[in-house]
Amino acid sequence: MRYLSLILLTSLLSSCITASHPSRSGSGGTSLARDYWGHRPGPQGFHTVIIDAGHGGRDSGAVSRHTGDYEKHLALDTAKRLAAKLRGQFLTVFIRSGDSFVDLDDRVAMASRQGGAILLSLHYNSSSSSSVRGPETYYWRVDSHGLATRIQRGLESVIPAKSGNLGLRRRRLRLTRNPQIPCVLVEFGYLSNAGEARLCADPAHRDRLASAVANAIRAQAQQGDAGTGPKPPPLNQPLSRPTDPAGT
Ligand SMILES: [Zn+2]
Repeated sequence: MRYLSLILLTSLLSSCITASHPSRSGSGGTSLARDYWGHRPGPQGFHTVIIDAGHGGRDSGAVSRHTGDYEKHLALDTAKRLAAKLRGQFLTVFIRSGDSFVDLDDRVAMASRQGGAILLSLHYNSSSSSSVRGPETYYWRVDSHGLATRIQRGLESVIPAKSGNLGLRRRRLRLTRNPQIPCVLVEFGYLSNAGEARLCADPAHRDRLASAVANAIRAQAQQGDAGTGPKPPPLNQPLSRPTDPAGT
């Protein structure tokens, strides 16, 4: 069973690799090898971007009562927009390229097999409070802080934050703690907020969000962590498990 699923994943991964090849070599960069903890500077000179569209298949993610939109569809649409913007400069790899269910731990395993890569997991948010809105960017590893900072700044240029950089959050999630490569999870906006749900339903808005993330990835590849502020402290916490209490 395990063997079969590995074969399935391997063939799925190779079939998902887009026909886009990097135009420059990844040599000379930092933090490009797989690393368990990620207590190191952020990556520079990487050439592979793994794009994880959140949810899929039987897992719809959030569903907006305002627009009827499913998070899984918006996430995949944004993933494809992001890949299109990176094409020609980076090799892009989709965790899922259709409406299929992929277990979180399998997403982690697929990402961790790639060397010289970063992982972006793309989501739309939901809250029991309909007034909550705004983009949030999650990271855990020290080597992911610079990229997360750049992404959050870019998203706030599209959707300005009310105050400061509250949308940058360090949280131990399976997609931020467990991959052995730099990884960032992006929540583009709250589908539970009427105004933001309508914004996110607009393809032009999703295109602006994808551009902001693409620009952040390009800046990180060129400049590493330069200009992204002090690094967070290294934290030796265990891998995130499905049985962990939410938000820990
Ligand atoms: Zn989600």
